[in-house]
Amino acid sequence: MEAADLAPIRESVRTLCASFPGEYWRALDRERAYPEKFVAALTQAGFLAALIPEDYGGSGLPMSAAAAIMEEIQAAGCNGAACHAQMYTMGTLLRHGSAEQKARYLPAIARGELRLQAFGVTEPTSGTDTLSLRTTATRAGDHYLVNGQKIWTSRAEHSDLMLLLARTTPREQATSRTAGLSVFLVDMRDVKGQGLTIRPIRTMMNHATTEVFFENMPVPALNLIGAEGEGFRYILSGMNAERILIAAECIGDAKWFIAKAAAYASAREVFGRPIGQNQGVQFPIARAYIGMRAAELMVREAATLYEAGKECGAEANMAKHLAAEASWAAADMCVQTHGGFGFAEEFDIERKFRETRLYQVAPISTNLVLSYIAEHVLGLPRSY
Ligand SMILES: Cc1cc2nc3c(=O)[nH]c(=O)nc-3n(C[C@H](O)[C@H](O)[C@H](O)COP(=O)(O)OP(=O)(O)OC[C@H]3O[C@@H](n4cnc5c(N)ncnc54)[C@H](O)[C@@H]3O)c2cc1C
Repeated sequence: MEAADLAPIRESVRTLCASFPGEYWRALDRERAYPEKFVAALTQAGFLAALIPEDYGGSGLPMSAAAAIMEEIQAAGCNGAACHAQMYTMGTLLRHGSAEQKARYLPAIARGELRLQAFGVTEPTSGTDTLSLRTTATRAGDHYLVNGQKIWTSRAEHSDLMLLLARTTPREQATSRTAGLSVFLVDMRDVKGQGLTIRPIRTMMNHATTEVFFENMPVPALNLIGAEGEGFRYILSGMNAERILIAAECIGDAKWFIAKAAAYASAREVFGRPIGQNQGVQFPIARAYIGMRAAELMVREAATLYEAGKECGAEANMAKHLAAEASWAAADMCVQTHGGFGFAEEFDIERKFRETRLYQVAPISTNLVLSYIAEHVLGLPRSY
Protein backbone atom coordinates (compact mmCIF):
# COMPACT_ATOMS: atom_id res chain seq x y z
CA MET A 1 0.00 0.00 0.00
CA GLU A 2 1.16 3.56 -0.69
CA ALA A 3 2.26 5.79 2.20
CA ALA A 4 -0.71 8.15 1.60
CA ASP A 5 -3.20 5.28 1.89
CA LEU A 6 -1.60 4.20 5.15
CA ALA A 7 -1.91 7.66 6.75
CA PRO A 8 -5.48 7.20 8.08
CA ILE A 9 -4.60 3.79 9.55
CA ARG A 10 -1.53 5.26 11.23
CA GLU A 11 -3.61 8.13 12.57
CA SER A 12 -6.25 5.85 14.09
CA VAL A 13 -3.62 3.63 15.75
CA ARG A 14 -2.03 6.76 17.22
CA THR A 15 -5.41 7.89 18.55
CA LEU A 16 -6.04 4.52 20.19
CA CYS A 17 -2.54 4.38 21.69
CA ALA A 18 -2.95 7.83 23.23
CA SER A 19 -5.31 6.22 25.77
CA PHE A 20 -2.46 3.94 26.92
CA PRO A 21 0.26 6.29 28.17
CA GLY A 22 3.50 5.53 29.98
CA GLU A 23 1.82 5.13 33.41
CA TYR A 24 -0.31 2.28 32.06
CA TRP A 25 2.73 0.34 30.81
CA ARG A 26 4.85 1.14 33.87
CA ALA A 27 2.25 -0.26 36.25
CA LEU A 28 1.98 -3.48 34.22
CA ASP A 29 5.74 -3.75 33.92
CA ARG A 30 6.16 -3.65 37.69
CA GLU A 31 3.70 -6.51 38.13
CA ARG A 32 4.67 -8.34 34.92
CA ALA A 33 0.94 -8.18 34.13
CA TYR A 34 -0.66 -8.65 30.72
CA PRO A 35 -1.96 -5.51 28.93
CA GLU A 36 -5.47 -6.94 28.67
CA LYS A 37 -7.23 -3.59 28.13
CA PHE A 38 -4.82 -2.57 25.40
CA VAL A 39 -5.13 -5.87 23.53
CA ALA A 40 -8.93 -5.75 23.87
CA ALA A 41 -8.98 -2.20 22.46
CA LEU A 42 -6.79 -3.18 19.50
CA THR A 43 -8.98 -6.23 18.85
CA GLN A 44 -12.19 -4.24 19.08
CA ALA A 45 -10.85 -1.66 16.65
CA GLY A 46 -10.12 -4.52 14.22
CA PHE A 47 -6.38 -3.91 14.03
CA LEU A 48 -5.43 -7.47 14.97
CA ALA A 49 -7.64 -8.81 12.17
CA ALA A 50 -5.93 -6.62 9.57
CA LEU A 51 -4.54 -9.58 7.63
CA ILE A 52 -7.68 -11.75 7.78
CA PRO A 53 -9.47 -11.65 4.41
CA GLU A 54 -12.79 -9.80 4.27
CA ASP A 55 -14.60 -13.06 3.45
CA TYR A 56 -13.75 -14.24 6.96
CA GLY A 57 -14.69 -10.97 8.64
CA GLY A 58 -11.24 -9.33 8.70
CA SER A 59 -10.11 -6.15 6.94
CA GLY A 60 -8.13 -7.97 4.23
CA LEU A 61 -5.31 -5.43 4.39
CA PRO A 62 -1.84 -6.09 2.94
CA MET A 63 1.41 -6.59 4.88
CA SER A 64 2.42 -2.89 4.62
CA ALA A 65 -0.74 -1.94 6.54
CA ALA A 66 -0.09 -4.55 9.23
CA ALA A 67 3.51 -3.29 9.47
CA ALA A 68 2.28 0.31 9.78
CA ILE A 69 -0.05 -0.73 12.63
CA MET A 70 2.76 -2.45 14.55
CA GLU A 71 5.19 0.42 13.93
CA GLU A 72 2.73 3.03 15.23
CA ILE A 73 2.05 0.99 18.38
CA GLN A 74 5.76 1.01 19.23
CA ALA A 75 6.32 4.61 18.16
CA ALA A 76 3.60 5.61 20.63
CA GLY A 77 5.54 3.95 23.48
CA CYS A 78 3.17 0.97 23.71
CA ASN A 79 4.22 -2.68 23.32
CA GLY A 80 2.77 -4.77 20.52
CA ALA A 81 4.62 -7.87 21.73
CA ALA A 82 1.51 -8.59 23.77
CA CYS A 83 -0.35 -9.51 20.61
CA HIS A 84 1.84 -9.33 17.49
CA ALA A 85 1.88 -13.12 17.01
CA GLN A 86 -1.78 -13.13 15.98
CA MET A 87 -0.78 -11.24 12.85
CA TYR A 88 2.02 -13.54 11.80
CA THR A 89 0.77 -16.94 12.93
CA MET A 90 -2.43 -16.29 11.01
CA GLY A 91 -0.58 -16.68 7.71
CA THR A 92 0.08 -20.39 8.32
CA LEU A 93 -3.65 -21.03 8.83
CA LEU A 94 -4.56 -18.81 5.87
CA ARG A 95 -2.12 -20.34 3.42
CA HIS A 96 -2.09 -23.97 4.51
CA GLY A 97 -5.28 -24.54 6.52
CA SER A 98 -8.28 -26.32 4.99
CA ALA A 99 -11.44 -24.41 4.01
CA GLU A 100 -13.17 -26.03 7.00
CA GLN A 101 -10.44 -24.93 9.46
CA LYS A 102 -10.51 -21.37 8.13
CA ALA A 103 -14.30 -21.21 8.37
CA ARG A 104 -14.16 -22.67 11.89
CA TYR A 105 -11.58 -20.27 13.31
CA LEU A 106 -10.97 -17.13 11.26
CA PRO A 107 -14.37 -15.40 11.68
CA ALA A 108 -14.25 -15.95 15.46
CA ILE A 109 -10.68 -14.57 15.55
CA ALA A 110 -11.77 -11.57 13.47
CA ARG A 111 -14.69 -10.93 15.85
CA GLY A 112 -12.28 -11.02 18.79
CA GLU A 113 -13.93 -14.08 20.36
CA LEU A 114 -10.86 -16.26 19.91
CA ARG A 115 -7.18 -15.40 20.22
CA LEU A 116 -4.45 -17.07 18.18
CA GLN A 117 -1.41 -15.62 19.87
CA ALA A 118 0.75 -18.56 20.87
CA PHE A 119 3.39 -20.07 18.64
CA GLY A 120 5.07 -23.23 19.95
CA VAL A 121 8.27 -23.89 18.04
CA THR A 122 11.33 -23.38 20.30
CA GLU A 123 12.33 -26.16 22.69
CA PRO A 124 14.89 -26.10 25.51
CA THR A 125 17.26 -28.60 23.90
CA SER A 126 16.82 -27.78 20.19
CA GLY A 127 17.09 -23.97 20.41
CA THR A 128 17.72 -22.47 17.00
CA ASP A 129 18.12 -25.94 15.48
CA THR A 130 14.37 -26.40 14.93
CA LEU A 131 14.79 -29.66 13.00
CA SER A 132 16.09 -31.38 16.14
CA LEU A 133 12.97 -30.65 18.17
CA ARG A 134 11.75 -33.55 20.31
CA THR A 135 8.05 -32.94 20.91
CA THR A 136 6.14 -35.76 19.23
CA ALA A 137 2.58 -36.11 17.96
CA THR A 138 1.49 -39.72 17.52
CA ARG A 139 -1.67 -40.65 15.66
CA ALA A 140 -4.23 -42.53 17.81
CA GLY A 141 -7.50 -42.96 15.91
CA ASP A 142 -9.10 -39.60 15.16
CA HIS A 143 -6.62 -37.81 17.46
CA TYR A 144 -2.92 -37.21 17.84
CA LEU A 145 -1.32 -37.52 21.27
CA VAL A 146 1.33 -34.88 21.91
CA ASN A 147 4.24 -35.38 24.31
CA GLY A 148 7.15 -33.07 24.97
CA GLN A 149 7.97 -29.51 25.98
CA LYS A 150 8.26 -26.05 24.45
CA ILE A 151 9.99 -23.01 25.87
CA TRP A 152 9.51 -19.28 25.32
CA THR A 153 5.95 -19.88 24.17
CA SER A 154 4.89 -16.30 24.62
CA ARG A 155 1.30 -15.34 25.47
CA ALA A 156 0.19 -18.99 25.95
CA GLU A 157 -1.76 -17.95 29.05
CA HIS A 158 -3.55 -15.24 27.08
CA SER A 159 -4.39 -17.17 23.95
CA ASP A 160 -7.10 -19.70 23.12
CA LEU A 161 -5.22 -21.26 20.23
CA MET A 162 -1.61 -22.29 19.75
CA LEU A 163 0.13 -23.06 16.50
CA LEU A 164 2.32 -26.04 17.41
CA LEU A 165 5.19 -27.69 15.54
CA ALA A 166 5.77 -31.34 16.52
CA ARG A 167 7.46 -34.38 15.08
CA THR A 168 5.11 -36.92 13.52
CA THR A 169 7.78 -39.15 11.92
CA PRO A 170 10.98 -40.09 13.79
CA ARG A 171 13.93 -38.18 12.37
CA GLU A 172 15.75 -41.34 11.22
CA GLN A 173 12.65 -42.50 9.28
CA ALA A 174 11.87 -39.15 7.62
CA THR A 175 12.22 -38.98 3.83
CA SER A 176 14.38 -35.84 4.01
CA ARG A 177 16.17 -33.60 6.53
CA THR A 178 13.19 -31.23 6.72
CA ALA A 179 10.35 -33.79 6.52
CA GLY A 180 8.50 -35.42 9.41
CA LEU A 181 7.38 -32.32 11.32
CA SER A 182 3.73 -31.27 11.38
CA VAL A 183 1.79 -28.18 12.37
CA PHE A 184 -1.30 -28.34 14.58
CA LEU A 185 -3.79 -25.75 15.64
CA VAL A 186 -4.23 -26.62 19.31
CA ASP A 187 -7.36 -25.41 21.01
CA MET A 188 -5.86 -24.88 24.45
CA ARG A 189 -9.27 -24.38 26.04
CA ASP A 190 -9.94 -28.11 25.59
CA VAL A 191 -6.69 -29.40 27.07
CA LYS A 192 -5.52 -27.03 29.82
CA GLY A 193 -4.89 -29.19 32.87
CA GLN A 194 -5.62 -32.26 30.73
CA GLY A 195 -2.29 -32.91 29.08
CA LEU A 196 -1.26 -29.25 28.79
CA THR A 197 0.55 -27.37 31.56
CA ILE A 198 1.69 -23.76 31.15
CA ARG A 199 4.29 -22.19 33.45
CA PRO A 200 5.19 -18.50 33.20
CA ILE A 201 8.86 -17.51 32.88
CA ARG A 202 9.80 -14.20 34.45
CA THR A 203 12.06 -12.22 32.12
CA MET A 204 13.86 -8.86 32.12
CA MET A 205 10.86 -7.28 30.40
CA ASN A 206 7.11 -7.77 30.60
CA HIS A 207 6.59 -10.34 27.85
CA ALA A 208 4.13 -12.97 29.16
CA THR A 209 6.39 -15.76 28.02
CA THR A 210 6.03 -19.34 29.27
CA GLU A 211 7.21 -22.91 29.10
CA VAL A 212 4.60 -25.48 28.16
CA PHE A 213 4.50 -29.19 28.86
CA PHE A 214 2.53 -31.77 26.91
CA GLU A 215 1.66 -35.11 28.43
CA ASN A 216 -0.49 -37.26 26.16
CA MET A 217 -2.26 -34.07 25.10
CA PRO A 218 -5.01 -35.01 22.62
CA VAL A 219 -5.34 -32.91 19.45
CA PRO A 220 -8.09 -33.82 16.96
CA ALA A 221 -6.68 -34.99 13.62
CA LEU A 222 -9.01 -32.35 12.11
CA ASN A 223 -6.65 -29.74 13.57
CA LEU A 224 -3.62 -30.89 11.61
CA ILE A 225 -2.73 -28.03 9.24
CA GLY A 226 -2.03 -29.13 5.68
CA ALA A 227 -0.26 -32.44 5.07
CA GLU A 228 1.36 -34.49 7.81
CA GLY A 229 5.15 -34.21 7.70
CA GLU A 230 5.20 -30.91 5.78
CA GLY A 231 5.05 -28.64 8.82
CA PHE A 232 8.58 -27.25 8.69
CA ARG A 233 7.90 -25.84 5.22
CA TYR A 234 4.65 -24.21 6.46
CA ILE A 235 6.38 -22.62 9.45
CA LEU A 236 9.21 -21.34 7.25
CA SER A 237 6.72 -19.76 4.87
CA GLY A 238 5.29 -17.76 7.78
CA MET A 239 8.64 -16.53 8.97
CA ASN A 240 9.02 -13.76 6.42
CA ALA A 241 5.83 -12.14 7.72
CA GLU A 242 7.10 -12.47 11.28
CA ARG A 243 10.44 -10.86 10.41
CA ILE A 244 8.80 -7.96 8.54
CA LEU A 245 6.29 -7.20 11.30
CA ILE A 246 8.90 -7.33 14.04
CA ALA A 247 11.22 -5.17 11.94
CA ALA A 248 8.38 -2.63 11.69
CA GLU A 249 8.03 -2.73 15.48
CA CYS A 250 11.75 -2.00 15.81
CA ILE A 251 11.37 0.99 13.48
CA GLY A 252 8.57 2.23 15.75
CA ASP A 253 10.78 1.76 18.81
CA ALA A 254 13.66 3.62 17.13
CA LYS A 255 11.31 6.51 16.27
CA TRP A 256 10.13 6.67 19.88
CA PHE A 257 13.72 6.78 21.24
CA ILE A 258 14.82 9.38 18.69
CA ALA A 259 11.83 11.67 19.32
CA LYS A 260 12.29 11.34 23.07
CA ALA A 261 16.03 12.11 22.86
CA ALA A 262 15.61 15.05 20.47
CA ALA A 263 12.96 16.62 22.69
CA TYR A 264 15.04 16.18 25.83
CA ALA A 265 18.26 17.43 24.20
CA SER A 266 16.44 20.62 23.17
CA ALA A 267 14.88 21.19 26.60
CA ARG A 268 17.58 20.15 29.06
CA GLU A 269 19.99 22.97 29.88
CA VAL A 270 23.43 22.36 31.40
CA PHE A 271 26.30 24.90 31.37
CA GLY A 272 23.69 27.53 30.49
CA ARG A 273 22.60 26.06 27.13
CA PRO A 274 20.59 23.12 25.78
CA ILE A 275 22.65 19.94 25.82
CA GLY A 276 21.50 19.36 22.21
CA GLN A 277 23.56 22.37 21.14
CA ASN A 278 26.66 20.27 21.72
CA GLN A 279 27.61 18.22 18.70
CA GLY A 280 28.67 15.44 21.05
CA VAL A 281 24.99 15.14 21.99
CA GLN A 282 23.30 15.94 18.66
CA PHE A 283 25.46 13.72 16.42
CA PRO A 284 24.46 10.42 18.09
CA ILE A 285 20.79 11.42 17.69
CA ALA A 286 21.36 12.24 14.00
CA ARG A 287 23.26 8.97 13.54
CA ALA A 288 20.42 6.98 15.13
CA TYR A 289 17.95 8.75 12.83
CA ILE A 290 20.00 7.91 9.73
CA GLY A 291 20.23 4.27 10.79
CA MET A 292 16.49 4.11 11.41
CA ARG A 293 15.63 5.66 8.02
CA ALA A 294 17.90 3.23 6.16
CA ALA A 295 16.37 0.27 7.99
CA GLU A 296 12.89 1.63 7.28
CA LEU A 297 13.60 1.50 3.54
CA MET A 298 14.50 -2.18 3.79
CA VAL A 299 11.35 -2.90 5.80
CA ARG A 300 9.28 -1.22 3.06
CA GLU A 301 11.12 -3.13 0.36
CA ALA A 302 10.46 -6.45 2.14
CA ALA A 303 6.77 -5.62 2.72
CA THR A 304 6.31 -4.56 -0.92
CA LEU A 305 7.84 -7.80 -2.20
CA TYR A 306 5.81 -9.83 0.29
CA GLU A 307 2.50 -8.31 -0.70
CA ALA A 308 3.32 -8.74 -4.40
CA GLY A 309 3.73 -12.46 -3.66
CA LYS A 310 7.44 -12.32 -4.58
CA GLU A 311 10.38 -14.06 -2.90
CA CYS A 312 11.50 -11.89 0.03
CA GLY A 313 13.52 -14.16 2.35
CA ALA A 314 16.68 -12.08 2.05
CA GLU A 315 14.88 -8.74 2.37
CA ALA A 316 12.77 -9.88 5.34
CA ASN A 317 15.89 -11.09 7.16
CA MET A 318 17.88 -7.96 6.30
CA ALA A 319 14.96 -5.75 7.35
CA LYS A 320 14.72 -7.50 10.71
CA HIS A 321 18.50 -7.29 11.20
CA LEU A 322 18.84 -3.61 10.26
CA ALA A 323 15.74 -2.54 12.17
CA ALA A 324 16.70 -4.44 15.33
CA GLU A 325 20.17 -2.85 15.19
CA ALA A 326 18.65 0.59 14.57
CA SER A 327 16.26 0.29 17.53
CA TRP A 328 19.00 -0.95 19.82
CA ALA A 329 21.39 1.84 18.73
CA ALA A 330 18.61 4.40 19.27
CA ALA A 331 17.82 2.91 22.70
CA ASP A 332 21.43 3.18 23.80
CA MET A 333 21.67 6.73 22.45
CA CYS A 334 18.47 7.71 24.25
CA VAL A 335 19.79 6.53 27.62
CA GLN A 336 23.04 8.41 27.03
CA THR A 337 21.23 11.60 25.99
CA HIS A 338 19.17 11.53 29.17
CA GLY A 339 22.14 10.98 31.47
CA GLY A 340 20.91 9.80 34.87
CA PHE A 341 17.26 10.31 33.96
CA GLY A 342 17.59 7.60 31.31
CA PHE A 343 17.58 5.13 34.20
CA ALA A 344 14.55 6.56 35.96
CA GLU A 345 11.43 4.43 35.61
CA GLU A 346 9.12 7.40 35.04
CA PHE A 347 10.85 8.32 31.77
CA ASP A 348 9.90 4.94 30.22
CA ILE A 349 13.29 4.75 28.51
CA GLU A 350 14.70 1.93 30.63
CA ARG A 351 11.50 -0.08 30.00
CA LYS A 352 11.62 0.40 26.24
CA PHE A 353 15.39 -0.26 26.33
CA ARG A 354 14.75 -3.68 27.91
CA GLU A 355 11.88 -4.41 25.56
CA THR A 356 13.70 -3.62 22.32
CA ARG A 357 16.81 -5.63 23.26
CA LEU A 358 14.84 -8.82 22.64
CA TYR A 359 14.82 -8.36 18.89
CA GLN A 360 18.53 -9.10 18.58
CA VAL A 361 17.68 -12.62 19.78
CA ALA A 362 14.05 -13.37 18.90
CA PRO A 363 12.34 -14.38 16.71
CA ILE A 364 15.72 -15.15 15.15
CA SER A 365 19.10 -14.20 16.51
CA THR A 366 21.51 -11.91 14.71
CA ASN A 367 23.98 -14.68 13.86
CA LEU A 368 21.32 -16.76 12.17
CA VAL A 369 20.31 -13.84 9.95
CA LEU A 370 23.96 -13.33 9.01
CA SER A 371 24.39 -17.00 8.17
CA TYR A 372 21.19 -16.91 6.07
CA ILE A 373 22.60 -14.04 3.99
CA ALA A 374 26.05 -15.66 3.80
CA GLU A 375 24.65 -18.95 2.56
CA HIS A 376 21.55 -18.06 0.55
CA VAL A 377 22.54 -14.70 -0.93
CA LEU A 378 26.32 -14.86 -1.13
CA GLY A 379 26.66 -18.57 -1.84
CA LEU A 380 29.08 -19.23 1.01
CA PRO A 381 29.30 -22.78 2.41
CA ARG A 382 26.57 -23.76 4.88
CA SER A 383 27.98 -23.31 8.39
CA TYR A 384 25.70 -25.60 10.39
C1 LIG B 1 11.13 -13.30 25.41
C2 LIG B 1 11.19 -14.35 24.34
C3 LIG B 1 10.05 -14.66 23.63
C4 LIG B 1 10.06 -15.68 22.69
N1 LIG B 1 8.88 -16.06 22.09
C5 LIG B 1 8.84 -17.20 21.36
C6 LIG B 1 7.61 -17.76 20.93
O1 LIG B 1 6.54 -17.18 21.14
N2 LIG B 1 7.62 -18.94 20.27
C7 LIG B 1 8.78 -19.62 20.02
O2 LIG B 1 8.71 -20.70 19.41
N3 LIG B 1 9.99 -19.12 20.39
C8 LIG B 1 10.04 -17.94 21.07
N4 LIG B 1 11.25 -17.45 21.51
C9 LIG B 1 12.47 -18.20 21.25
C10 LIG B 1 13.44 -17.49 20.33
O3 LIG B 1 13.00 -17.59 19.00
C11 LIG B 1 14.81 -18.13 20.56
O4 LIG B 1 15.24 -17.74 21.86
C12 LIG B 1 15.82 -17.73 19.54
O5 LIG B 1 15.45 -18.25 18.29
C13 LIG B 1 17.21 -18.25 19.90
O6 LIG B 1 17.14 -19.60 20.29
P1 LIG B 1 17.81 -20.07 21.66
O7 LIG B 1 17.35 -19.15 22.72
O8 LIG B 1 17.54 -21.51 21.87
O9 LIG B 1 19.33 -19.85 21.45
P2 LIG B 1 20.42 -20.91 20.95
O10 LIG B 1 19.95 -21.61 19.72
O11 LIG B 1 20.84 -21.72 22.11
O12 LIG B 1 21.59 -19.92 20.55
C14 LIG B 1 22.34 -19.17 21.55
C15 LIG B 1 23.27 -18.21 20.82
O13 LIG B 1 24.15 -18.96 19.98
C16 LIG B 1 24.07 -18.48 18.64
N5 LIG B 1 24.15 -19.62 17.71
C17 LIG B 1 23.53 -20.82 17.79
N6 LIG B 1 23.88 -21.60 16.73
C18 LIG B 1 24.71 -20.87 15.97
C19 LIG B 1 25.39 -21.08 14.74
N7 LIG B 1 25.27 -22.23 14.07
N8 LIG B 1 26.17 -20.11 14.25
C20 LIG B 1 26.31 -18.92 14.90
N9 LIG B 1 25.70 -18.66 16.07
C21 LIG B 1 24.91 -19.60 16.59
C22 LIG B 1 22.70 -17.81 18.52
O14 LIG B 1 22.72 -16.82 17.52
C23 LIG B 1 22.53 -17.23 19.92
O15 LIG B 1 23.11 -15.98 19.98
C24 LIG B 1 11.27 -16.37 22.41
C25 LIG B 1 12.44 -16.01 23.09
C26 LIG B 1 12.41 -15.04 24.06
C27 LIG B 1 13.67 -14.73 24.82
